[in-house]
Amino acid sequence: MCILKNSLVQSHLLVESIVKNGDTVVDATAGNGNDTVFLAGLVGEEGLVYSFDIQERAINATLKKLEGKQLNQRVKLINDGHQNMKAYINGPVKAVMFNLGYLPGGDHSVGTRGNTTIAAVKSAMELVSLHGIISVVLYYGGDSGFDEKNQFMDFIKTIDCRNFTVMQTEFVNQINCPPILVCIEKTR
Ligand code: SAM
Repeated sequence: MCILKNSLVQSHLLVESIVKNGDTVVDATAGNGNDTVFLAGLVGEEGLVYSFDIQERAINATLKKLEGKQLNQRVKLINDGHQNMKAYINGPVKAVMFNLGYLPGGDHSVGTRGNTTIAAVKSAMELVSLHGIISVVLYYGGDSGFDEKNQFMDFIKTIDCRNFTVMQTEFVNQINCPPILVCIEKTR
């Protein structure tokens, strides 16, 4: 078993190190519901997960997964773009998870896009509490292409270092564009 975990596992390890029972958190890309189920387990019965996806198919898949584990009471499923998250959430939230790209098993042309992802991350930066975390697992190459990755990487370099710390982890010797993890912590 490898010691260095992939970007998705690393995002979970980081988020689970800060999210406690009763917290409010966001899954910005519900997809097949794996991250929403993970977050619902962390926040407990008193906590709340807001989970967004533009595809009804993803919302339905996530609901089914939650119901199977009796976790649906602690999740608000929202069939809307994550760029609109401020219309649904007043904040503060402890963590916001983004898992970019397209729905596995779904239409590869309906993926996340650089402009809406950046708008959503800016909203998440407003909503997240002090020392809260925004995690972004960034898939690129293949059907996802490179536009979103390039726009997002340019954007994170512009984030004000007085208020946020931004970390990027990347596997530099793997083939086929392994996903990149970006984490943003509000520090002030
Ligand atoms: N986190 C998911 C899981 O655990 O199964 C995987 C997410 S999948 C890689 C990316 C999802 O983002 C797709 O389901 C897609 O419909 C969704 N998506 C694309 N653009 C979006 C947007 N603007 N707002 C919210 N979701 C979006």
